[in-house]
Amino acid sequence: MTPVEIRNKNIINETVKALKSRHFDAYAVDTKEEALSLALSLIPKEDVVSFGGSASVDSVGLKEALYARGQKFIDRSAAKSPEDAERLQREALLCDTYLMSANAIGADGTIVNIDGNGNRVAALCYGPKQVIIIAGANKITHDVKSAIERAKYYAAPVNAARFDIGTPCKEKGLCNVCKCPDCICAQILITRLCRRAGRIKVILTKESLGF
Ligand code: SF4
Repeated sequence: MTPVEIRNKNIINETVKALKSRHFDAYAVDTKEEALSLALSLIPKEDVVSFGGSASVDSVGLKEALYARGQKFIDRSAAKSPEDAERLQREALLCDTYLMSANAIGADGTIVNIDGNGNRVAALCYGPKQVIIIAGANKITHDVKSAIERAKYYAAPVNAARFDIGTPCKEKGLCNVCKCPDCICAQILITRLCRRAGRIKVILTKESLGF
């Protein structure tokens, strides 16, 4: 193993232990393929599935695999109008399984997410029967404080660059804690405990995923 792989394996194992102590179901896997196979086994075939925008979920091919096996989806990208998209976004809050990643995960088992509209963090808090988070070792930081810093000062500016928005971080690569209308940091959520044990499942891969 390379030094980076040794670090990732060790920190993932520690983070899984910390997540379990907070009543999350947590799993350590080596590869994207293992993450895909595990996630498929955790989603009943009759479940209605929805998801928040996530490069990590996209990179393991989970949505394609679910579509291929005939899974029922609530997919706002299929909306025919802004009103339809809003309706689907609201319906997604009551789906069976919600897929997402995290902007950062502290090795102490805390999960940090930043959101503009808030639909993704809303689903994480309450609504879907289960939430499956897929994240690479690159998302793991030392603790909750460093997780917030990663989410705010790295993940959010990179995320802003994906969209047609006018935020200062998109222009400069640095967060200036803006209040602009396009701000994607309206909500900062720290999930420090899974109140209904096992509702939130976290799959951590040794490979880096997303950003
Ligand atoms: S500049 Fe605004 S949108 Fe960009 S990361 Fe900072 S608070 Fe978020």
